[in-house]
Amino acid sequence: MNQPILKSIKPLLRDLLANGLLLSEISNPGKRAKGKLTIATFHRVLPENLRQQYPYPGICVTPEELRWFCSFFAHYFSVGSITNLNQRWQSGEQPNKPFLAITFDDGQLDNLQYGLPVLDEFDFKATFYIPASNIDEASILWHDRIGYCTLAARNNGEKSIRKTLELAQSFGIPANPTSAFENHIIQHSKRISPEKRKLFIEALESLLQTSYPEWGRLMTWDEIRLMHQQGHEIGSHSMTHALMPQCNDQDLKFETAESKRRLETELNTEITSFCYPNGDCDARSVEAVLQAGYQNAVTTQWGKNQLNQPHFQLNRCDVNTFNNWNRKQQLSTARFALRLSGLQPGL
Ligand SMILES: [Zn+2]
Repeated sequence: MNQPILKSIKPLLRDLLANGLLLSEISNPGKRAKGKLTIATFHRVLPENLRQQYPYPGICVTPEELRWFCSFFAHYFSVGSITNLNQRWQSGEQPNKPFLAITFDDGQLDNLQYGLPVLDEFDFKATFYIPASNIDEASILWHDRIGYCTLAARNNGEKSIRKTLELAQSFGIPANPTSAFENHIIQHSKRISPEKRKLFIEALESLLQTSYPEWGRLMTWDEIRLMHQQGHEIGSHSMTHALMPQCNDQDLKFETAESKRRLETELNTEITSFCYPNGDCDARSVEAVLQAGYQNAVTTQWGKNQLNQPHFQLNRCDVNTFNNWNRKQQLSTARFALRLSGLQPGL
């Protein structure tokens, strides 16, 4: 078919298909997830004006959007935190509506400021994954530091982008981006060694004189304790948001066992759930999480979990506003149901 025509009718076809599949119950989330454990992933909850100032708007929902997703979950699922639902699911409990755990990665202040009030409206309890060293040091996560730097370079203009790429090249990152400049820098930063990445970030900050907004900070221990006291589960997101397959044995132990110990000391409770930073895990990291004494661990591998899914590699469903819009750019029940269904029609 003529490409421009196909491009213009594709959103319409996608909406029609999504509506048809939900009406015919084929994509009904309550039915498709029956007997399985679904785990939803969120990162940041920011009002629209702040989302526009954040380097990765794709991992943000606004409070209004979170409310929309929670309404959807309340309609189709029995909602809770990971460890609670996982134990009930494993013990054979079969609720009328299937289990869905809500998770938030990274321990950002906005989770408390903007996320918690919405969860409270539904009386939902969720799991929050915390990078313990970053909380100790009140430091911004390394991928956010890179994001704010590339955002600053973009705002400064072409010359600044060129200088950033020259600097990146001296750290082994190709100088000619094959994707958007921001994406190129962050993706290649993940492939260099942790030591080199640390030096690269410091050099970037010095080059671009980057400053970080107050609303972009992580929670403090007192704020995390507050969430825990309100019945939410706190899990470990490692010590330093390290990419686990890049860690040596000693670092793996530090990121898994020490983060568990730090969280347990601060919260005076057992920490049972772990989340691999960036979703990166391999056999060594799975073994380290197991040895540290956790009960479960989540990845970013898309999908629902069958009962035979390994407990230390649980799949999740990343929840993203922009993937669940209809052609009018409004959140759509049918579109989200289709995405959660995993049918992936390729439209
Ligand atoms: Zn993370």
